[in-house]
Amino acid sequence: MISIAEKVHCPNCGQIADRYHLEADQLIRTQCLACDYLMITCARTGRVIEAYAPGLFASSAPQPVLRP
Ligand SMILES: [Zn+2]
Repeated sequence: MISIAEKVHCPNCGQIADRYHLEADQLIRTQCLACDYLMITCARTGRVIEAYAPGLFASSAPQPVLRP
């Protein structure tokens, strides 16, 4: 499988993140090791397949808040 890697700035924390272009799957995967940010988008449609950004959706708690 051919994949092209490039360095981008993490949209979550601003650190250097890795972006992989997965040619075979038509996916673009961006991941940041500094803050665990992860986003996978479709290269053809730009649609978000999977996204995870700690601190962005839950400012204080790292895990989702569960109602009792
Ligand atoms: Zn980050």
